[in-house]
Amino acid sequence: MLVKVVLLFLLGMAALAMVFKQLGGRKRLSKPVTCPRCGRHRIGNGPCPCGTARNKG
Ligand SMILES: [Zn+2]
Repeated sequence: MLVKVVLLFLLGMAALAMVFKQLGGRKRLSKPVTCPRCGRHRIGNGPCPCGTARNKG
């Protein structure tokens, strides 16, 4: 009984790992450009507003 459960669990984990690997590979193709300061995704080639727009006061 337990052996079967463990085997099924391992198989499930392997399947999930494969799916996640494929998803990660797809995401790797398009590098998400994030700001090193705030960590937000930058839209376009312009600089992040967190670095340019300074709050007065
Ligand atoms: Zn930023």
